[in-house]
Amino acid sequence: AKAKGRNTFHFYSQELDAAANERLFIENELRIALKAKQFKLNYQPQVNSQTMEVIGYEALIRWYHPEKGFIPPDKFIHIAEATGMIVELGEWVIDEACHFSMRLQALGQAGNMSINLSARQFKDDRLISTLSDVLERTKMPPNLLHLELTESMLMGDVEAAITQLHEIKRLGVALSIDDFGTGYSSLSYLKRFPVDMLKVDRSFVQDIPEDQNDMEITAAIIAMAQKLKLQVVAEGVETQEQVDFLQKNNCFIVQGYFYSPPINESEVHDFYQSLQRP
Ligand code: C2E
Ligand code: CA
Ligand code: CA
Ligand code: CA
Repeated sequence: AKAKGRNTFHFYSQELDAAANERLFIENELRIALKAKQFKLNYQPQVNSQTMEVIGYEALIRWYHPEKGFIPPDKFIHIAEATGMIVELGEWVIDEACHFSMRLQALGQAGNMSINLSARQFKDDRLISTLSDVLERTKMPPNLLHLELTESMLMGDVEAAITQLHEIKRLGVALSIDDFGTGYSSLSYLKRFPVDMLKVDRSFVQDIPEDQNDMEITAAIIAMAQKLKLQVVAEGVETQEQVDFLQKNNCFIVQGYFYSPPINESEVHDFYQSLQRP
């Protein structure tokens, strides 16, 4: 609909057009980007704050568009998801991250490799064969591969989700619940999901030590994870105070700018050296 003389409406419709155009642009460019090798992965170290060992990395996708420059994942992952492109894109991510993990292994820099899965990918029939293929091709020990899922992806058809989780576990691959605490999974469900790890969402960590509520929630999540015998990682850790608080509450694995932002392959090697040889 076009404006009929009313400025506000005209303005509004222009904004909608701009948003729709951007979406269309990204949708079209996504189709080209994979073939044109515009994607890269960065890796963010997960560090044991007590021993200063790197326990693993989370792979995070980066898109460098020839004209638009860097396009952050928050701008395109949901569009890739809506169009179904995420399945192909996600297969590339899995392949790339596992190959990198094996290059790390070859250098003696062992560690987990965590990969984000989207809802569509998780539900896709091809997921299990994609995973077993890549494990076979790379000879990667399956327990080094961690898949990150969100609570909302598990909550719709809970029975189907549990079946799929067991299929993944059968391959020997580990499972993490990402952004934990922001979704709606109840304790009783959590017990039924065969997961290995919880990642405390950044939103709880970022205002420690100012926000008393967030500290209580974080402490409760850590305590609950321990009761359920799940590993726990705190995300978005930016300060020494946050590390101290987490240590006091028995959470030693942390990920965040305090130790390192997501970094490229050669920076990963430097980071590993800097921690292992202080
Ligand atoms: P996420 O899985 O929660 O990833 C953590 C995000 O927090 C990353 O943003 C990371 O760069 C950022 N981060 C890490 N440490 C800190 C910190 O100390 N402070 C702050 N302020 N931020 C920190 P990024 O890379 O922009 O990714 C955003 C989201 O995009 C991810 O959130 C994930 O949901 C999605 N994503 C990224 N890569 C992939 C992928 O390969 N596949 C899928 N399906 N989703 C991905
Ligand atoms: Ca994640
Ligand atoms: Ca997260
Ligand atoms: Ca997130």
